[in-house]
Amino acid sequence: MPQKPELTSKDLFALLVSQVSEFVIVLVDATGLFISWNPGVESCLGYTAEEFIGKEFDLLLPYSDRACGAGERELKEATEKGRASDTRWLMTKNGERIWVDGVTLALRDNSGQLLGFGKILRNVTARLGMQQELETANQKLQGITHELERSNEDLEQFARIASHDLSAPITSTRWLVDALRMRHGSRLDPDGQLMVEQISQSLERMADLVDAVLAHALVGTSAIAGSELADAEDAFESAIKNLRKDIELAKAAISHDPLPRLQIEENALAQLFQNLLSNSIKYRRTDVPLSIRVTAVREMSMWKIGVHDNGMGIEREWFERIFQPFQRRHGLEIAGTGLGLATCKKIVTRAGGNIWVESKLGSGSSFFFTLPGKTA
Ligand code: ADP
Repeated sequence: MPQKPELTSKDLFALLVSQVSEFVIVLVDATGLFISWNPGVESCLGYTAEEFIGKEFDLLLPYSDRACGAGERELKEATEKGRASDTRWLMTKNGERIWVDGVTLALRDNSGQLLGFGKILRNVTARLGMQQELETANQKLQGITHELERSNEDLEQFARIASHDLSAPITSTRWLVDALRMRHGSRLDPDGQLMVEQISQSLERMADLVDAVLAHALVGTSAIAGSELADAEDAFESAIKNLRKDIELAKAAISHDPLPRLQIEENALAQLFQNLLSNSIKYRRTDVPLSIRVTAVREMSMWKIGVHDNGMGIEREWFERIFQPFQRRHGLEIAGTGLGLATCKKIVTRAGGNIWVESKLGSGSSFFFTLPGKTA
């Protein structure tokens, strides 16, 4: 029976190197000549062993690198520091440029005598291409985001200016209609008086709309998700104060859990409470006393705040739509602009949270919003 040859670990290692074709693994002698070859040289660079062994180390460098002594510098750095980066452009035998990632190591004997150099590298041109594509895509994305932010700012500025400029003629027309009613009202016949009344109501509605557009446009002009924590108790109290008359008129019973400190600008939070509470008051049922409860539940790093009422409720198909600007489920029989919930959504999303409704028609609604925050 033939004897099995004894392989040392050195032999096994040489076998491994001789079979790796994805990596270029070569030896260079101390004078800078290639003295060994592995199949990676042929698969990555196109040279056979005969064409490669004994050639100058900088055979693989592009002409411009060769001319400025890049090969020598690399060997000098490896000699001085033990290793040198070999991440660079190389030329294949047929003149193609490839981007390689690798290292050149100085090889020394036990006494420190330099024996030569080992080079290990691989072709990463495809990765470079992908990186470049990624960078280009990233730059494009940044451009689009920038453009979007700019056009958003333009739009908000336009809405602010338009609504601000519209306020002045509305105010003066309201003043003129009041004067007309007071000074000349008695001279108008009933038809004329009704017309004046209708003009006055339309002006009120127009003024409400302009205010609502302005409030919506102003969301985000200050840092909503400000670094300061807002005390939700204070914001809630300020909303209640602004709605005092409506609350008294509706005889609403309002209760609330202890409210936390939330990562949002306080005025924006007060506006959020005010819009939700005023809706609960507006869309109440006349057959039951209005009751509103505000709850606060901690969910990981967020707080979930709920505003629950026992009012008219909303059909499921309106759950999403009512948060879009000018989407009203109710008609003009209940005054409104259709912007209250859209403004709430803008406030909450800009502060990093979510807002939604759960409701049953005829028995009440629960509006929930989440915001990052702390326990009070
Ligand atoms: P507005 O109240 O000015 O119409 P909103 O954006 O605040 O505008 O609300 C949009 C619509 O959502 C309202 O027209 C109303 O139909 C419905 N809605 C909002 N809040 C409630 C509520 N608490 N109960 C019932 N319906 C509501």
